[in-house]
Amino acid sequence: MTTISYASPRRMLDRLKALGEIGATGDGGVCRLALSDADRAGRDLVVGWMRALDLEILIDAFGNIFGRYPKANDAPAVVMGSHIDTVATGGIYDGNLGVLAGLEVIETAIEQKLPIARPLIVAVFTNEEGVRFAPQMMGSLVFAGGLPIQTALDTIGIDGARLGDELRRIGYDGDYPVGKLPIHSFLELHIEQGPVLETEDVTIGAVDRVQGISWTEYKVLGQSSHAGTTPMHLRKDAGRVACEIGAFVPQMVFEMGGDQVGTVGRMILGPNLTNVVAREATLTVDLRNTDAGKLADARKRLDAFAHAAAREANVHLEVRQLTDLLPVPFAPDIVDMVEAYASAHGYKARRMPSGAGHDAQMIARVAPSGMIFVPSVGGISHNVREFTKPDDLKAGLQVLESVALRLAMQN
Ligand SMILES: [Zn+2]
Repeated sequence: MTTISYASPRRMLDRLKALGEIGATGDGGVCRLALSDADRAGRDLVVGWMRALDLEILIDAFGNIFGRYPKANDAPAVVMGSHIDTVATGGIYDGNLGVLAGLEVIETAIEQKLPIARPLIVAVFTNEEGVRFAPQMMGSLVFAGGLPIQTALDTIGIDGARLGDELRRIGYDGDYPVGKLPIHSFLELHIEQGPVLETEDVTIGAVDRVQGISWTEYKVLGQSSHAGTTPMHLRKDAGRVACEIGAFVPQMVFEMGGDQVGTVGRMILGPNLTNVVAREATLTVDLRNTDAGKLADARKRLDAFAHAAAREANVHLEVRQLTDLLPVPFAPDIVDMVEAYASAHGYKARRMPSGAGHDAQMIARVAPSGMIFVPSVGGISHNVREFTKPDDLKAGLQVLESVALRLAMQN
């Protein structure tokens, strides 16, 4: 097993920093919401780098970008990639690392004139974060056939914009057919976004599965009234029910134990005034588990509680499932290779599940896929203080390089 590395961590880091300046928030963070002007500028920069390497640029009808080497080779490719959109208070590593490491591996293969048996592709998937347009991982989901493209294009964002209109506005509504790109295997290098690797002093995570994710929106419709004059039993208090649902989530999750997690990350009251009983309330619940059955049970219990709470308070409840993703296992031979090459490079590695959703879990539906994790300092991500040490970035790049080139060079 060869452990020689030709890739340049320096060049990758320089690109990470340059990309991090687009949409920079001034405090070390970055805001490039999907299909915003900043997203367009980020895409332009990355596509410019791809063109400088003379890659073949393929942009599909959902704005997913693929840079292929060599050109016009339709054989199933070894694809490396991730996303470059961010949350509003994102860091410079989330997603961007997987894209720029893939680009670096391709640049290495070109420079070294490596005899690859199948094409190498670097991929940028549209709207992974799902902040502006739900659900998350949308570009890879559409690519894998899990969501009809028209439904995805018709998605209305939290700012009222239609996704398809925004895609056209930023000039990334390509003509390559969605999902038609032949993939031999897919690899995504990503920061862990959690504290496990750092806590255990392990450099490389060989990700063997991804947690299932359920996102539900509960919309409670009551009636606004005077906070002083309306007796409690005559109210139709949407805020009360939202709070009850919100409080039930951690209670249920602690009770379930295991690796079940649950989050109420968004709650909006209307009219949102101190002395007015809320007329309406909207909250979202994010539930995750590596066990599909337990996740489904959690969702069922939560729904039952929400309906009972709404009945009790005499308000109307609308339930909308925003995301419903089963746990995903990754290709065992890719997981093995990640672990083996990490050791061959002299890095401590461990198998682990991913607690976050990633594009690789969607591509796993159509091609053997795997992920490589590198440590996040303090476990912090989706935060301007997100940081991964340069040595760890280098380790991740080297493992990606070894696995990708092995897959591309073998027959
Ligand atoms: Zn990400």
